[in-house]
Amino acid sequence: MTTDTPATRPADLPDAIHHWIGGKLTGSADGRTLPVADPVSNTPYTTAAAGGPDDVDRAVAAARAAFPSWSKVGNRERASVLYRIADAVEAHEERLAAWETFDSGLPITQARGQARRAAENFRYFADVVVALGEEAFRAGDQQLNYVVRTPVGVAGLITPWNTPFMLESWKLAPALASGCTLVLKPAEWTPLSASLWPEILDQAGLPSGVVNIVHGIGEEAGQALVDHPDVPLISFTGSTDTGRHIVRSSAAHLKTTSMELGGKSPVVLFADADLEAALDSVVFGVFSLNGERCTAGSRVLVQRPVYEEFTRRLAERADQVRVGPPADPATEVGALVHPEHYARVLQYVEIGRREARLMAGGVRPAHLPEGNYLQPTVFADVPRDARIFQEEIFGPVVAVAPFDDEAEAVELANATAYGLAAYVWTSDLKRGHRVAHAVESGMVWVNSHNVRDLRTPFGGVKASGLGREGGAHSIDFYTESKIVHVMLGEVRTPRFGAS
Ligand code: NAD
Repeated sequence: MTTDTPATRPADLPDAIHHWIGGKLTGSADGRTLPVADPVSNTPYTTAAAGGPDDVDRAVAAARAAFPSWSKVGNRERASVLYRIADAVEAHEERLAAWETFDSGLPITQARGQARRAAENFRYFADVVVALGEEAFRAGDQQLNYVVRTPVGVAGLITPWNTPFMLESWKLAPALASGCTLVLKPAEWTPLSASLWPEILDQAGLPSGVVNIVHGIGEEAGQALVDHPDVPLISFTGSTDTGRHIVRSSAAHLKTTSMELGGKSPVVLFADADLEAALDSVVFGVFSLNGERCTAGSRVLVQRPVYEEFTRRLAERADQVRVGPPADPATEVGALVHPEHYARVLQYVEIGRREARLMAGGVRPAHLPEGNYLQPTVFADVPRDARIFQEEIFGPVVAVAPFDDEAEAVELANATAYGLAAYVWTSDLKRGHRVAHAVESGMVWVNSHNVRDLRTPFGGVKASGLGREGGAHSIDFYTESKIVHVMLGEVRTPRFGAS
């Protein structure tokens, strides 16, 4: 297999991808469409409806109409629907993996994992709402105060193109579990897998209008959702620049927002670490999902005594990573999502050549003459003010730099605008905790790459985001808490105006 052969092109691709509004597949009000291409041939294979304000209006109206009944469905019944969605996602696993692979360029083995994780998101949030209690506070015999949670209303969900279906599920599941209805705006470069939701959600018996999908470009369909007065909440995952813009736009209606944004996450590797385990994790952490991973450990800081050896071995492994057609089960790194993104990553490689020492990759693999392919790339001796140290590349490119002691490691780890994830490798338990606490990031893994526990908060600090989702944090985000104060004893009131 070299490029996009008929064997790798799914047989059942849709002729056109439509919006899904009020339970019906529909085109845009003005009939506009966008071409959708795959990242191997970079030629359009279908079109997606290009939504605008009219389409968003229709979708929000459908979600508003569905809200009164969906929001009143009991928690256990809602959870049953979520379980059925999880089953339906798994029943679609092969097709979903094939479509995701074809549309986004993710290696097929990693696309399969996305379907399982998507199903898990639904099962997990079903369990959360069944187990969820509400707080009560008693002030002796005098007063009882209790909290009721109500779903916020119509949620606006905006998602990026890396792991599209899984990230959509990460927002759909808690929004539905909380009793919200919603409008989803998938990423325009990868709309294919989102076109499976209507079938999956219908199969699971979700009432019409609870979920609505509007495709289209961010500045039109996404912006219309952000600007819509009847959408009180926006959950956004994407780049920091877009996130800033959405927060500014949301201020007009004082919307609740959750921003899961970019990252430039450090791996801090001390000389006493298990270097074999660290090497596997570093390679996987930055090159899996084609390096298009928000939590990628894309800056590797290595303590000086092991710096040369670790960097050399990292480069050797990068050279051996199997880059190939996304649909080939042997492929470890597939094709980057879009020619525009590929050109941006290649531009960073050129910048890196001027800023640092290229140890591996930096070129298209010789056996892959077309498609958005890049051999995993390692730069060493990267100075802290280098652009490849500071800026998110979002491809299979890693920057490596040495440090001498713990203080310098922490300082270097914190020397970027971002603060999403961090990874610490050491066999000194106290130091592991110390560094984990000192690093400015929303999440830290000690002696591991990114292994998620769905109960834990997910999100970043600094330019990596605002707010947390994950576990009960997601339910907090999609619901409003109302406190009800009940006087049980006698109410004592200063008697204004009484004689
Ligand atoms: P992007 O910001 O370009 O687009 C994300 C989504 O926002 C798309 O659906 C796009 O159409 C939409 N959009 C664009 N402009 C908009 C506007 N004005 N109003 C409303 N919506 C708009 O991001 P991308 O290139 O698709 O994704 C890559 C980025 O996402 C990277 O920076 C990556 O780190 C980040 N990401 C973060 C996380 C996380 O959890 N922190 C997870 C995955 C990806």
